[in-house]
Amino acid sequence: MTASTMTNSTQPPSAKPAPPAAPDIPARRAPAEPAVTFDVRHLNVWFSSNQVLDDISLQVPPKAVTAIIGPSGCGKSTFLRSLNRMHDLVPGARVQGSITLFGEDLYASHVDPTVVRRRVGMVFQKSNPFPTMSVAENVTVGLRLNGVRQKALLNERMERALRMAALWDEVKDRLHANALSLSGGQQQRLCIARALAIEPGVLLMDEPASALDPLATAKIEELILELKKQFTIVIVTHNMQQAARISGFTAFLYLGRLVEFDETAKIFTNPSNQQTEDYVTGRFG
Ligand code: ADP
Ligand code: MG
Repeated sequence: MTASTMTNSTQPPSAKPAPPAAPDIPARRAPAEPAVTFDVRHLNVWFSSNQVLDDISLQVPPKAVTAIIGPSGCGKSTFLRSLNRMHDLVPGARVQGSITLFGEDLYASHVDPTVVRRRVGMVFQKSNPFPTMSVAENVTVGLRLNGVRQKALLNERMERALRMAALWDEVKDRLHANALSLSGGQQQRLCIARALAIEPGVLLMDEPASALDPLATAKIEELILELKKQFTIVIVTHNMQQAARISGFTAFLYLGRLVEFDETAKIFTNPSNQQTEDYVTGRFG
């Protein structure tokens, strides 16, 4: 496999992983970017005795948007939350199987879940800026919690995150206003900026635009397309047009099982599975 195919983000998720390099051949250049961001194998999740995810295996490709679709209650959020160990915070939740991030076992006993959550940013359906903080403080809170104190560095990282979240121009003159004075769409982009400020390798989004009007939604979608140049993004959406517009790959979950995972174009035009076809054509929801 050549370096160019290794970094090709349009490589189908079903492609076999590259064989391990022969140990006796010295590397001639810096290692290519990993071909897989999350490698999920045989993931099962229970809440008490209720099994919510059933034997999910899939490989999330890097620097691409992967959409998780499926009817309400099928386990989309549960899947997403297992990618940054959020179930650790839920009494009665049990996760079984393996998930690696860039080859590292996220659930290994020595791995600190708070470090995982620092590397895997999360944006929720309902924007949740810290209500007692200003716009600026909301963006830098993660850095400050991580011990960054220098004002110049905090300001620099704040501006960069707000620019990346396509919010800087709208808030640069009101950085010290309360975060709740922003519009709903701006608050959601502020939450994206907050997630980006700690420089995660990956961004998870759980229906980030479902509470927004069409204009604010379009801005978020535009932003996602921009961010995927630098990040791996996994997004839950029940809006199939949105999945079709912004994602390169789509996973269809139904009743806790992965029915089909493929390039988005294939899922929406020529799916392999009848259930997928019935769902994407609106025969059930
Ligand atoms: P989706 O995001 O696809 O709508 P979820 O992953 O939120 O679905 O939920 C899947 C199932 O898991 C639902 O039956 C839901 O009630 C259950 N569930 C989700 N979170 C919890 C929790 N914290 N405790 C108990 N059950 C939960
Ligand atoms: Mg959900």
